[in-house]
Amino acid sequence: MEHNFYTLLGVSSTATAAEIKKAYHKKALQYHPDKNPGDAEAEKKFKEVNLAHEVLSDPKKREAYDRVGHSAFQNQQGGGGYEGFHGFGEGDFSSIFEDLFSDFVGGSRSRSPQSSQKGGDLHYQIAVSLEEAFAGISTEIQFPTYSSCATCQGSGSKSKAKPKNCGSCRGRGRVHVQRGLFAIETECKACYGMGSTISDPCSDCKGEGRTRGQKKLSISIPAGIHDQSQIRMSGKGETGKRGGTSGDLYVQVHIKPHELFERKDNDLYCDYPVSMTLAALGGDIDIPCIDGQTVTVKIPEGAQYNQKIIVRHKGMSQLNRSQRGDLCVMAKIYIPVHLTAKQKVSLQDFHEEEKNKTHEVKGFFSKIKKFVKNLSVCFLG
Ligand SMILES: [Zn+2]
Ligand SMILES: [Zn+2]
Repeated sequence: MEHNFYTLLGVSSTATAAEIKKAYHKKALQYHPDKNPGDAEAEKKFKEVNLAHEVLSDPKKREAYDRVGHSAFQNQQGGGGYEGFHGFGEGDFSSIFEDLFSDFVGGSRSRSPQSSQKGGDLHYQIAVSLEEAFAGISTEIQFPTYSSCATCQGSGSKSKAKPKNCGSCRGRGRVHVQRGLFAIETECKACYGMGSTISDPCSDCKGEGRTRGQKKLSISIPAGIHDQSQIRMSGKGETGKRGGTSGDLYVQVHIKPHELFERKDNDLYCDYPVSMTLAALGGDIDIPCIDGQTVTVKIPEGAQYNQKIIVRHKGMSQLNRSQRGDLCVMAKIYIPVHLTAKQKVSLQDFHEEEKNKTHEVKGFFSKIKKFVKNLSVCFLG
């Protein structure tokens, strides 16, 4: 069945006002948040039912809805596909409705002109090294944006006279424009959505009260910051029009890959080449740390490939905490190549000795024995 306001309320498209009212009361009661605490699906349904009632209980709105059809809501979503009512966020539905039907209905949505005076939010990406993320840095960034006009001090007026209500939109900042079948609400061109005009606009900013240029800003990146973290700087985005509120600046931090260390949470991992003999005999190695110091790490006797040796509190700094994460040294044991004659003799001796003791790999050899035995059984059988 086609999903629309009628099917939502469970009435026919010819239902009377009384039937609609009755059906709405029933559905509203069923999905009421008080009856379904914490149920997001019910809450959504409750809103949809309310909207359906709002439209169908008003004869003018109902007539417009019947004429244009429910699919108008679908078209309004930019071809993203109709997903029942689920593609809409809270509030979207009523605004779409008013955008679509304001002409028929004479809708009077009051969107504050102040909202179009607000400066936009800005997003800035910054890349830092792992060392910088470890220690934290203060740096200066520069980006193009709107700042308050210096000539008129943001007023937009040469004489700093008070702006007057815009005649075209009667101070609303928005006007209705006919687009084919639909009346769409858009920003008023006469006042740029500000709802007011200035008789003697400032020549530098054309009355907007702000000019575009490069803005420099100091930012602090705290020690221990994580990759992809976002720092919000309230009011540091675009300056609003004619003294309107400024937007916010969001700085996203990217940490560049490091040659030696890989970060996992607050720990740092380092692959360290350990010779076969050092791994067998054990011994100390010096490892560089992210703070520029070195630390002596004990490779235990008989260390195995990829064995993790943890050095406490020598890893990454932690946000708002004094204790650092750990440094994890991964022993990457390697086999020597290009042996000297002397090394060959020593290793030969080592090999002879090693042949006699196979207990370290006993488990494996017992498996081999079993396998060979099974094989012979197979062939004999
Ligand atoms: Zn100006
Ligand atoms: Zn206007």
